[in-house]
Amino acid sequence: MEQDIQSVLYSEAQLRERVQELGRQITEDYRDRDLILVCVLKGSCVFMADLMRAIRVNAAIDFMCVSSYGAGTSTRGAVQLIKDLGTDVAGKDVLLVEDILDSGVTLSFLRDHIIRSRGPASFGICTLFDKPERRRVDVQPDYVGFVIPDAFIVGYGLDYAERYRNLPYVGILKPEVYS
Ligand code: 5GP
Ligand code: MG
Repeated sequence: MEQDIQSVLYSEAQLRERVQELGRQITEDYRDRDLILVCVLKGSCVFMADLMRAIRVNAAIDFMCVSSYGAGTSTRGAVQLIKDLGTDVAGKDVLLVEDILDSGVTLSFLRDHIIRSRGPASFGICTLFDKPERRRVDVQPDYVGFVIPDAFIVGYGLDYAERYRNLPYVGILKPEVYS
């Protein structure tokens, strides 16, 4: 597994420190609100597990699952909803927890779906990584862990063809693995 990694982009310690900072910021912003954290499966599961424990206000959690990539490294443009919310979020403060914001297709789909069909009191986005250069659809994240250049990364929940999610750090995949 590790021989496929070209370089480490963020170490376990760097990820831990930034996730704690995000947690502190969200704790401040969501005092006296009715927070529900929505994890976008599968890539955000590791980030969600760490972030939720860094948030010190009452928070419910839920999960959604979408698929857009198949085994490639860029979006096919159509998002498929595999698992919808299981909780009634009407009147609640939804914060979507996402691993990476790339073209914006996935998050704009989720944002429009949740706002239109679920009527939350507020809707926010917390993404661990943002690749603004790649944006094709207008999406403004409220919290960003790291802004990164246009490279395909894996680890800390992020996969390539369902592999590398269990790497504890984030690395750039060797291009020969996917080309
Ligand atoms: P978007 O719809 O914004 O183009 O893509 C969002 C989704 O694409 C993310 O949730 C993630 O699953 C996947 N993605 C985008 N960039 C990367 C990347 O660099 N590495 C991995 N592993 N997945 C990515
Ligand atoms: Mg993925």
